[in-house]
Amino acid sequence: MHCIILVKQVPDVSNIPEDAWDREKGTLRRGLLDSVLNPLDLHALSFARRITAGDPDAKTVYLTMGPPQARDVLLDCISRAPGEAVLLTDRALGGADTVSTAYSLAQAIRRIERELFAGSREYVIVSGMQSVDGDTAQVPPQLAEDLGVDQVAYAQDVHTEPALTFRRIGAAGTEDVTPTRFPVVVTVTACTDTLYAGFHATRAARSATIHTWGAADVEAKSDRVGLKGSRTTVYRIFSPSEDRAKQCEMVSDPADLLRKVQAKYRLASGGPAAHEEGSYALDGREPSYRGELWILAEREGDGIKSVSLELLGKARELAAFLGERVGAVLPCETAGDLSAELIAHGADVVYAIEHPLLATFSPVPFKSAVAAVVRERHPQVMLFGATPMGRELAPRIAYACDSGLTADCTKLEIGDHTKGGHALIGILKQTRPALGGNIMATIMTKDSPTQMATVRPGVFKVPPREDSRTGDVVRITPELAADLVGAQVTPVESFVSKVNIRDAKIIISGGHGIRSRSDFDRLLQPLADSLGDMLGDGAKVAASRHAVEDGYRSHDYQVGQTGQTVAPKLYVAVGISGAVQHVSGMQMSDTVVAINKDPRARIFNYADFGIVGDLETVVPQLTRAAQEAK
Ligand SMILES: Cc1cc2nc3c(=O)[nH]c(=O)nc-3n(C[C@H](O)[C@H](O)[C@H](O)COP(=O)(O)OP(=O)(O)OC[C@H]3O[C@@H](n4cnc5c(N)ncnc54)[C@H](O)[C@@H]3O)c2cc1C
Repeated sequence: MHCIILVKQVPDVSNIPEDAWDREKGTLRRGLLDSVLNPLDLHALSFARRITAGDPDAKTVYLTMGPPQARDVLLDCISRAPGEAVLLTDRALGGADTVSTAYSLAQAIRRIERELFAGSREYVIVSGMQSVDGDTAQVPPQLAEDLGVDQVAYAQDVHTEPALTFRRIGAAGTEDVTPTRFPVVVTVTACTDTLYAGFHATRAARSATIHTWGAADVEAKSDRVGLKGSRTTVYRIFSPSEDRAKQCEMVSDPADLLRKVQAKYRLASGGPAAHEEGSYALDGREPSYRGELWILAEREGDGIKSVSLELLGKARELAAFLGERVGAVLPCETAGDLSAELIAHGADVVYAIEHPLLATFSPVPFKSAVAAVVRERHPQVMLFGATPMGRELAPRIAYACDSGLTADCTKLEIGDHTKGGHALIGILKQTRPALGGNIMATIMTKDSPTQMATVRPGVFKVPPREDSRTGDVVRITPELAADLVGAQVTPVESFVSKVNIRDAKIIISGGHGIRSRSDFDRLLQPLADSLGDMLGDGAKVAASRHAVEDGYRSHDYQVGQTGQTVAPKLYVAVGISGAVQHVSGMQMSDTVVAINKDPRARIFNYADFGIVGDLETVVPQLTRAAQEAK
């Protein structure tokens, strides 16, 4: 089995020089950052190595698109694991968003298949989960869409016997996916047997074959590449501090911290974070887009996922400014009572797309069914949750519908924009973090029939249920061929929790920073007990995904995107870095305390109070201080 490994040269966001900050604008001068191989691509390298190992005929081809200097990352890759390489470089490709990048890479892959693999389709396209600069995770699914092949997202492990099988994080749990046809695109979330570049391998890499191709060499159409082919454009860049969820107050004395927490705790409501309200008026002007505002409704157990209800609330607010209706698209086997739930939470119309193949999530049938309805009915906005399913599905739907997509938005507004004398009225302004959270960017869609975005869970509030609301239900039965599913899927671990941590008023959550299971129990339970006693409420211990993978707690106690979403009055994060997938499950907490030895840990961006220090010291100090303060 051959492998094409997609790699990218990115700015080194882990090492930002002081002078790279533009203090006036509060943004980063990207040109002053070093260029490195996207760190997450290293996982792809070792993953691909496991696929090709043991097959003497297997070829490895590294593919990157970028400026001529991107050749360096290809040399770096070949030094770590031998192979050929293709550098796709051309001025015309510059300024590409994910849509035009995916198109250009797909054209290069077609040529690799023809010439380097002699027409063989027995290959896997492997990439890192996302790039640290763009962070969108959109290119691999859009590439799969262009090539008309399947994609396996968030792969963690691979076995080649008896058949090539990927273990991955799916929408409902961990699962084993065995593709039944090739090629297939695989994005890798973790594969830790990192390959290092040796002296001899680095020397040998200098004589390896690097094919340098331009846009014409891969027969790319000029109106589909670079800026011209892009469907989104950055409208504004600003500092995250303008948009930061919380301003963290650093405290060094545990007793002082507890006094502050106690004072805030008494005032806290225990409910979700404040709902951002914007305002906008068309004032009789003709808007640039017309049509309904839609959300994709995801199912969870017997109900609707809370992020889908959060999107309904936001869509209602935006639709009111434009005088339009809100639609919810529900792919399912049979909608049953779910349509009523969506209407009660704000949908004016539910498009229930019913088919047996839509009973469980599979990207290609879901994409085919939803994209057909979008193309037929032309909503002006389509929102998806930035969940495992949404992040896999939205890029493919956007690509299939010729539309731009902005990933992981934290803010959505309706506004106007004038550029070159041309006024855009009532458009969707989509704000998201970029460059590893170091800047915020507001993005707008261009040259697209529908403005599409994914939104992180927990950013907006679930609107109250109003059973008296009425709405229409449109039943759609798509024609879906059984062979749209290109893989056998075997569930391994379900993400449905058997334990409820949502009702706890206080949650002490531990992460990978804790070194062992016995430390986890020894440190966190006493802290939970003493804080519970001090504040007079029940406290529970929970965990990050990494801590669950370390075996400190079962998945039932996991907080985050693939765990539970919690909103306690007090959330204490101990040894947790603050990955987006974790934060999306706890950011609605009233008061957040973070304990971390790394002062730059992202969790502090979401905390009210922080202590920088070794948890081995800080946690017992806090426990004692809480016992004394009782
Ligand atoms: C599809 C998908 C879904 C996911 N879903 C979830 C989810 O639901 N929930 C979730 O949590 N993650 C989820 N993840 C994983 C997520 O991306 C992160 O890998 C995970 O949250 C990291 O866990 P962590 O913060 O405990 O570990 P790390 O990221 O390893 O962080 C450990 C932290 O501990 C600190 N530390 C180390 N030693 C000490 C010490 N002695 N004292 C103080 N601090 C110390 C370090 O500075 C670091 O910040 C998901 C990932 C994917 C791809």
